[in-house]
Amino acid sequence: MAVRKLPLGRPPAQEALRRWHDEQSLRRALRIARIGYWESHSAAATDIWVSPEFAEFYDCVTIEGFIPIATVQERSEPETRRLLKTHYVRCWKTGLAYAVRTSIRKSDGSLLDCVVHGEPEFDQEGQVQRVFGIVRDVTQETSALQQQTESEERLADFVSTASDWCWESGPDHRLLPYSKVLDGNAALQNVASGGKARWELSFAPEERDLMACHRADMEAHRPFRDFVYTSIGNDGSRISIRTSGKPIFSDDGTFRGYRGTASDITQLSVARALLEERTRALEEAHRLGRIGTWKYRLDGTRTTWSPELYDLLGFAPGTFEPNDTSIRTYFLDDGAERFCSMQKEILRTRETKAIDLRIKLVDGTTRDLAVICKAEVVHGNLIGIIGTAQDVTDRKEAERRLEQLAYTDPLTGLANRALFKRRLAALVEESGSEGSNGALLLVDLDRFKEVNDTLGHFAGDRLLIHVADVLRRETDPKSFVARLGGDEFAVLLHGHRTTHCAILDLAARLIRKLSVPVDLTEGEACIGATIGIAVLPEHGRTAEVAARNADLALYMAKEAGRGQARLFEPAHAQAVDQKLDLGRCLRQAVEAGALETHYQPQLDLKTGRVIGFEALVRWSHPERGPISPSEFIPIAENSGLIVDLGRWVLRNACRQGRDWLDAGLPRRAVSVNVSPAQIWSGDFEAVVSAALAETGFPPDLLCLELTESLFVDHTKNRVRSTLTRLSALGVQLALDDFGSGYSSLGYLTRLPFNCLKIDRSFVDGVSVAPEKRKLLGGMIALSHGLGMTVVAEGAELREEVDVLAGFDCDVVQGFVYSPPISADEAPSVAAEIERRAFRSTP
Ligand code: C2E
Ligand code: MG
Ligand code: MG
Repeated sequence: MAVRKLPLGRPPAQEALRRWHDEQSLRRALRIARIGYWESHSAAATDIWVSPEFAEFYDCVTIEGFIPIATVQERSEPETRRLLKTHYVRCWKTGLAYAVRTSIRKSDGSLLDCVVHGEPEFDQEGQVQRVFGIVRDVTQETSALQQQTESEERLADFVSTASDWCWESGPDHRLLPYSKVLDGNAALQNVASGGKARWELSFAPEERDLMACHRADMEAHRPFRDFVYTSIGNDGSRISIRTSGKPIFSDDGTFRGYRGTASDITQLSVARALLEERTRALEEAHRLGRIGTWKYRLDGTRTTWSPELYDLLGFAPGTFEPNDTSIRTYFLDDGAERFCSMQKEILRTRETKAIDLRIKLVDGTTRDLAVICKAEVVHGNLIGIIGTAQDVTDRKEAERRLEQLAYTDPLTGLANRALFKRRLAALVEESGSEGSNGALLLVDLDRFKEVNDTLGHFAGDRLLIHVADVLRRETDPKSFVARLGGDEFAVLLHGHRTTHCAILDLAARLIRKLSVPVDLTEGEACIGATIGIAVLPEHGRTAEVAARNADLALYMAKEAGRGQARLFEPAHAQAVDQKLDLGRCLRQAVEAGALETHYQPQLDLKTGRVIGFEALVRWSHPERGPISPSEFIPIAENSGLIVDLGRWVLRNACRQGRDWLDAGLPRRAVSVNVSPAQIWSGDFEAVVSAALAETGFPPDLLCLELTESLFVDHTKNRVRSTLTRLSALGVQLALDDFGSGYSSLGYLTRLPFNCLKIDRSFVDGVSVAPEKRKLLGGMIALSHGLGMTVVAEGAELREEVDVLAGFDCDVVQGFVYSPPISADEAPSVAAEIERRAFRSTP
């Protein structure tokens, strides 16, 4: 090293000052550099000379600058102590310089990192005459170095283990190739290989605008954070990358590029896209299904509704604060109570529950909601209730419509029999509890069938609608009105200690209102009504008993002459019950063809010939034996069974008449009794034609016996046309039981009757009662005057026949000749009657 020479000619005082100054500077420099100096003057020396800095490092006291070598060694850490000694000794022996790193423990226990240097100084013979050296405190350097190493290691660990990677780009924004190998698809490799600016790589076309913004940011040297883009590989593979970066400038402000980190968020993006798609789908499903959700927390925080729920309930979000009290007013019926108790139940049992509620919206419309609620439990703790509410108004409406269809009579809109049964059962159940009672009124229309048959079905339908209106109008709104079928209606009254009197008053009013003639387009309809009443609970503790007793009461009312109301009377129940039983039994007999026909001969007084037979139906009850037609015919008429029964007798009689003709017997007429209901049933003419065609019985030998009860005012036109058509078929028409009813001569003049049958009551005792005789004579003369044949019924005595003969009566029928007899007996009995008649002829 070159030694600077002192400038010549400088005065000695200045030289001394300069030296002193140099030494001071050196001292200062050594202190700053934390360097101590030492010297040993003999290999055998036990002390070394040290500079004050050295003494300070070793934290020891010197005597005139000397300290014992042992002290120095003591202060060194044990593992380097021996090393120091070895090097020191070797340096004296061989002159080898050394540097040993050691730690020195100071008296306060702290450690100093030091490097001890030793160097020899040789004499002229080349022997080591002195060893000197320095000790340098490197504690700060060591810890700084250590820190740097540690942080580098840490960074290296982060980089090697992180899924993120670091990137750098130059001033031209081209990415530098990434040193680390990145596992991934071609899209990732594109990014990692560098050489291009980010916007020069292939990226998703839909991100063009985003990328343009990003480029503008980078070109303006702005830092950016979490920029997400999609890189596309040469093979079409894609990767979603999120990157952040900051610009780097050199000290003079020159832009040197960017440094940043990036990460592959493809999985995250896919998951997020999937989540978004599912959320959207769920929201869409909620919107389409009109489902709203809500949460209620037990900690008293607010109840939250989903936007769909606001929408569903007709509130704009934010305009309504949902809570137990605020929503109460929107529930209909007992919804609020039911909903509240369901919530309590859920909190108690933690079970999921469902409930149907009806609510009223702000605009006044009503909606049906299907609500499902469940307890919300987190880590086993109950924190609240969550629920969904679905608008099921349309479905409920459809259900209601279906139910209405299932339980409504489509013609009148009244409840039908099925619903009536349910409501009656409910009424029976309620009646009797806490003084409440009820009544079942069975309303049967009188002569409805006639209207239907005469004015047509459309008129009949309109009449039924009218009846339904009357019943609705005249009964309390709380009453229940149903059409049970045909012309049968029912009214259920629900009352509180309603008296029999009040019920009968209502029934009488209904009958009055229903008996008012109704103007229909086809004509005027005059019907009436008969009502049977069962009061609940006394007339029926079950729906079946109540219905049966009301039916019995109705039957009693009909028997008593229709057009009236009857309360059920237990005393008559048995008799009526028997009649109803009889009716059921008779129906079975008719269906099974288990009836019989007897024939009563009719004698022509002038010729003494049996000119015909009256066919009279006979029925033998399985238990009671033979029952008189006078008992069972009214039952058949009341139940409508007479139509089938009459058709059976007609066919049977025609077939019998044909058999007799075929057997070669004389041509004799067969008379068949016809009930008004058969004529009103509409197709009677067809029934007669069919019976004649089927049996081949000549029409002129068939005589149909009709009674005056046929001629109810409003049916007379239709009856007349039916009779005219029957007459046109060639059959005979007889007016039966003349004199026992209205005995209106008008019918005789206007209707095509061929024959008049004088009722038995006029014949009975005629031989001994002069007034009767006059009446009888007048009737016969009148009939003859109208061109009709006269048949006298019920002649039991010879004298009566004589009187009849005296009045020129044509035909006589009565026990005097024969009672009704079986078809087998009839020919021989007829022959016998004729024989006797000849014998007795004078
Ligand atoms: P009706 O048509 O006036 O029949 C005559 C009834 O008088 C018959 O009673 C007959 O047995 C009875 N009779 C005949 N001669 C005498 C007599 O000299 N003295 C007495 N005391 N009675 C006599 P039956 O057979 O009991 O029939 C009663 C009523 O039942 C019939 O009266 C008729 O209205 C009805 N009837 C009978 N069979 C039929 C039928 O097939 N169809 C319909 N619709 N009614 C029928
Ligand atoms: Mg008769
Ligand atoms: Mg008669």
